[in-house]
Amino acid sequence: MLPSSAVSVYIEGFEAEPCSHFLPGRGCETFSLIRKMAGLKTYDVVIVGAGPAGAVLAYLLAAEGVDALILEKKHLPRYKPCAGGLTRRAVAALPFELTDVVEDEAYTIRTFLRNAPLFVETEPRPVVSMVMRDRFDEWLVRKAVEKGARIEEGVVFKSLLGSAGRLTVKTSRGEFGCKLVAGADGVNSRVARALGLKVRKRTMTALQGEVYAPDSRGIEAFRNAAHFDFGVVPQGYAWVFPKRDHLSIGVLTTSRSVKHLRQYFYSYLTLKALNQGGIVRSLRPHLIPFHPDRSNRLATEKGLLVGDAAGFADPITGEGIFYALKESRLASELILGALKSGYHRLPEYSRLLKQEMLEDLQCAQRFAGILYRLSALSARIIKAHGSTLGKYHTEVIGGTKTYGELYRSTFKLWKLIPALINSAHNK
Ligand SMILES: Cc1cc2nc3c(=O)[nH]c(=O)nc-3n(C[C@H](O)[C@H](O)[C@H](O)COP(=O)(O)OP(=O)(O)OC[C@H]3O[C@@H](n4cnc5c(N)ncnc54)[C@H](O)[C@@H]3O)c2cc1C
Repeated sequence: MLPSSAVSVYIEGFEAEPCSHFLPGRGCETFSLIRKMAGLKTYDVVIVGAGPAGAVLAYLLAAEGVDALILEKKHLPRYKPCAGGLTRRAVAALPFELTDVVEDEAYTIRTFLRNAPLFVETEPRPVVSMVMRDRFDEWLVRKAVEKGARIEEGVVFKSLLGSAGRLTVKTSRGEFGCKLVAGADGVNSRVARALGLKVRKRTMTALQGEVYAPDSRGIEAFRNAAHFDFGVVPQGYAWVFPKRDHLSIGVLTTSRSVKHLRQYFYSYLTLKALNQGGIVRSLRPHLIPFHPDRSNRLATEKGLLVGDAAGFADPITGEGIFYALKESRLASELILGALKSGYHRLPEYSRLLKQEMLEDLQCAQRFAGILYRLSALSARIIKAHGSTLGKYHTEVIGGTKTYGELYRSTFKLWKLIPALINSAHNK
């Protein structure tokens, strides 16, 4: 739990006039007054969800003097199924330094094909910083609260009434007033539906467990490295991410027809010699959104979507936190602009977000197509070109290249595909 002083949202008496310098147009003062008389707590922005997207958005808005409230249905710290790998590009996208919550740091990326080493690269700086999401998310929220944001825990968002500037958020614990709302409520976003936004996206299915080996040697063998294994689950991969006292291990598939992920998970434990005497906790399947439809609207005048709610994640790895952080930054700029000079500016978020991210993700999607869709050939392609692909991918997650740059300047992918296929056939 966060300290009670930090989470308190009950304000004695009436709130200070929140909109005197932010709200565009007229009628704001009357509206606020009516709400105060009705005893409704009002905020500039209500953010639903205390994951990385919601917490960082709250931080950025509060830093600019916006009265932001986070509503979170669980109590923090809460377990979140996630491998907790913060790539170097994600760490760089945080608005503050990553401290306190790092469990392990991967300087080495090890890629395997059916457990046979394919690619190893060690860098002088960590490529992936490992966190547990319960501690990491609580730490992010604490940063937001320190800047002046507020949080209500154990409150479920239900629905939204009213128009931009005069919204009423209905929850499991009463109503809150706000001018704008942000949906940071994950892959099954209820806020998206309340805003009337139909977000079309594909999803990959991931199954992850927290694995406690019977003795520390089981963990030490995986220290300071991120392990990726291809060829052990159809159209997907498996991973081992080391944590302070255990390993986060998972399997992921981009195919809808793959069932029985549990079998793949336990076969993978056997492959890694981790099946004897260990304890597996929190083993559950979860969806990761990717490949959002180009036509998706991600904002209206009333609010916008960030993080998994918006549907952007790396189509190869399922990495979502980097995208959540980037979206939060853009969302905070658009919300500030809308509060200052008109709610009609908020829908612009959709276009800007797509402009900033879609092209890059489409290039990533082409790489994913080679890896996962050409299933008969993918193992051969990975075998023949795994070390080149691995090196490039390390540059992308390290933040020195984007998928788009890789595609345009280095890879020339469409020209390369026949060459890749031919050379894989000949190996
Ligand atoms: C198995 C697995 C492994 C992954 N590994 C990685 C990884 O290593 N690196 C990486 O970058 N990404 C990883 N991801 C993806 C990553 O977890 C997500 O992209 C990321 O959590 C998105 O953050 P978010 O803030 O948008 O949503 P979330 O983290 O899902 O947070 C949403 C929050 O909203 C709350 N909420 C939902 N509905 C409501 C409601 N109605 N009212 C109030 N609150 C509500 C939830 O309780 C939750 O706290 C992984 C995903 C999975 C499933």
